[in-house]
Amino acid sequence: MNKKYDVLKSVFGHASFRAFQEEAVDAIVAGHDVMMILPTGAGKSLCYQLPSLLMEGVTVVISPLLALMHDQITALSAFGIEAAMISSMQTPEEIRTVIQRTKESNLKLLYVAPERLKSGEFIHFLNTIPIDFFVVDEAHCVSEWGHEFREDYRQLYRLRELFPSVPIAAFTATATHTVEQDILAQLRLSNPVLIRAKVRRDNLQINALHRKGNGREQLLEFLSKYENECGIVYTFTRKEAESIAEFLSAKKIPAQAYHAGLPTQQKNETYRAFLNDEIRVVVATVAFGMGIDKSNIRFVIHTTLPKTIENYYQEIGRAGRDGLDASTLLLFSASDDSDRKRMIDTQSESAYKQLAFDKLESTSRFASSQICRHQLIAQYFDDSSDACTTQCDNCLDTDKKNVDITQDALKLLSCVYRSGQRFGLHYVVDILLGVTNDKIEQNQHTALSVYAIGKDKSRHYWLTIGDRLLELKALRQGDFRVLALDEYGLEIIKKQLPLTIREERLQEQKRHSSTSKTIHASDENHAIFERLRGLRSAIAKENSVPPYVVFSDKTLQEMAEKLPQNKSEMLQVGGIGDVKFDRYGAEFLALCGSIKEQAL
Ligand SMILES: [Zn+2]
Repeated sequence: MNKKYDVLKSVFGHASFRAFQEEAVDAIVAGHDVMMILPTGAGKSLCYQLPSLLMEGVTVVISPLLALMHDQITALSAFGIEAAMISSMQTPEEIRTVIQRTKESNLKLLYVAPERLKSGEFIHFLNTIPIDFFVVDEAHCVSEWGHEFREDYRQLYRLRELFPSVPIAAFTATATHTVEQDILAQLRLSNPVLIRAKVRRDNLQINALHRKGNGREQLLEFLSKYENECGIVYTFTRKEAESIAEFLSAKKIPAQAYHAGLPTQQKNETYRAFLNDEIRVVVATVAFGMGIDKSNIRFVIHTTLPKTIENYYQEIGRAGRDGLDASTLLLFSASDDSDRKRMIDTQSESAYKQLAFDKLESTSRFASSQICRHQLIAQYFDDSSDACTTQCDNCLDTDKKNVDITQDALKLLSCVYRSGQRFGLHYVVDILLGVTNDKIEQNQHTALSVYAIGKDKSRHYWLTIGDRLLELKALRQGDFRVLALDEYGLEIIKKQLPLTIREERLQEQKRHSSTSKTIHASDENHAIFERLRGLRSAIAKENSVPPYVVFSDKTLQEMAEKLPQNKSEMLQVGGIGDVKFDRYGAEFLALCGSIKEQAL
């Protein structure tokens, strides 16, 4: 059984397993069904790729996305592992070649889409090859209680019927206990080895902020800390994705929009350019990134409230897969919550509708909570965790100051009430500020006692107070964003209940100035890293693979620190095994050598 360590070192370049990997490898090799819940970036693929190299036959991997399969195969061939895929995108000729290769048993891993299992011909083919085990990747897709249910995943129960003696290993990054039980039942797993890793990702710095205005200044300020680094900005609508991409490009930050409404060719081009570090930022709707293999995504930003915590956790999980520090920012406002509610409300009544409301509620609570964010996410997924103390905004800023807003809240509530609960927040704020316009005059609102009583404060100030009242459920937002008093709002007026807000929320976002820079250990080290990165880029281009497939950022950083001068030193660097050394080692050794010489 020591062979697994040899393979780990010689093929994957790692001296030791990461947490939970060895357990999974052992269970699969011993022929058990396995169900593994492992956060993104914790090294899931290795858990089935390594066993496939220890076994005689073929591993069949069911995966939901073509792009994902394609990236996996590119990465595997960089390790010198024989893998291929069969999908509807290939010609019959190409499929025949793959089938031939599989039969000649050159192949270790065969990736297929779930809909393949509908084909009798394909099932017949599977019966003719020696299958070691099946892998069901992104297994949460089988559950209607999850967040990415796929009809084609439903029929995966047939694997057990058609191949009763072949073990199944199911993998997912996120599952509550309900989803987990559903996966076990749907896939008919028998007496499975269940491996549930800790949810918490220690290298992710999680931040959530109340959005100020349209949030663009906050976005720029955040991005200024990540010069030269890549990341994803998630938006809720296609239109917003396009307008933010334009905005960033105008600010000289190479960005592209990505959403389901764009032509396939354009999407593929954006995806490719992002993998190859040619564009820094992809501004996307949720159509982007599922299963993305790029390991050096340094930040993930949400410009509005995500749909569910599952979505959120999976999306931020795309950052920092190489294990290096990565940062996330969620910008939200109470109006996001009401917008979502109205959208859910248009669905017909069902258990899923209630579920959607519940999930939204959890997401809103997460955003405005003052408790450790890692802890909140862990709780959501039925896991426990101590407060992170350093890796989230709530832990870092425990002494945030609250200020009293009781009197101003009363003014705003009373303005909503006196204007008849028929207008949106901006109009109500117009009244408070004493604005004169046609609408206000027609409605004779200049005569209200609340007219202009708030003109000593700014528009931003009043909008923030409105946001706070929505968040506290003193106000509710109906159709056309019309505000009305909720029970709690009436109670506040009646009893003059004291209200507070975090002081920083009232401060207007300063114009952004780009002086702050990144995050790297030392300038000298960073310069070396950049030279290694340049070489990596050139090699990647030559071989038509994404740079991170050659070596990850983590490997390059370690190399920059150690500057290996011979083969055995180079093999000590994490992520460099025999195959990669043979392919790229000489060029990197030469560069490390000349860097060292210059330094002496
Ligand atoms: Zn924390």
